[in-house]
Amino acid sequence: MNAIIFGAPGSGKGTYSALLKEILGVEVISMGDIFRAMMTEKSILGRIIKDYVNAGLLVPDIIVVEVLKEFINHAPKDKGFVLDGYPRTLAQAEALEGIARIDVVMRLVVPDWIIIERLSSRRICRDCGQVYNVRFLKPKKEGTCDKCGGELYQRSDDNPEVIKMRLDLYEKETSPLLRFYEGKMVPIISHTVDALEIPPEKVVKYIVAELKRLKLA
Ligand code: ADP
Ligand code: ZN
Repeated sequence: MNAIIFGAPGSGKGTYSALLKEILGVEVISMGDIFRAMMTEKSILGRIIKDYVNAGLLVPDIIVVEVLKEFINHAPKDKGFVLDGYPRTLAQAEALEGIARIDVVMRLVVPDWIIIERLSSRRICRDCGQVYNVRFLKPKKEGTCDKCGGELYQRSDDNPEVIKMRLDLYEKETSPLLRFYEGKMVPIISHTVDALEIPPEKVVKYIVAELKRLKLA
């Protein structure tokens, strides 16, 4: 199964794809994680990416598409993958058509007020990328990852001004892509969250049940 997990920043894409990886054994290709790793490199490309990410802007399509191709080509062929954070523009969706077949879109619907609450208190593990929230999804020990003991940090783009920019870009550039996949008759699983604290396991259980119904899991 090749899937896209689709939703606004802070809608839970990273959290749910990590669980889907555990349950279904799929590869997860997270554009955001890839770019954050590249940002720490002292290369020119790393610096260019850092400027875009820190401003809440989209990294230019030609860079994104090339990076994605690399990762898809190196992913194990038999497992299938979940794309998190790709595609974000129509040009990216069109480029993907020539790279891989997409079987399903998993769409997360979360109101803006919840997203803003979540992103401003989000923390990430430096070592394994696990997502926490100092208010709603706390680690057992403050500042430390439950899974690997790594240090938790706050992303440079998780601040109110940049969050607003990211949400605006999502509305303008990314959310219209849903229609692109509807037009291609790709099945869409939708899950709506309307409360701040919903156990991620519950959401993922629903997604897995829907995937089974579609005979994709
Ligand atoms: P979120 O979904 O919470 O905004 P991500 O970790 O997916 O965060 O992405 C962080 C940042 O990385 C984005 O704001 C953007 O600058 C850059 N980025 C990630 N994926 C893409 C993409 N497909 N196209 C362009 N920029 C991207
Ligand atoms: Zn960790």
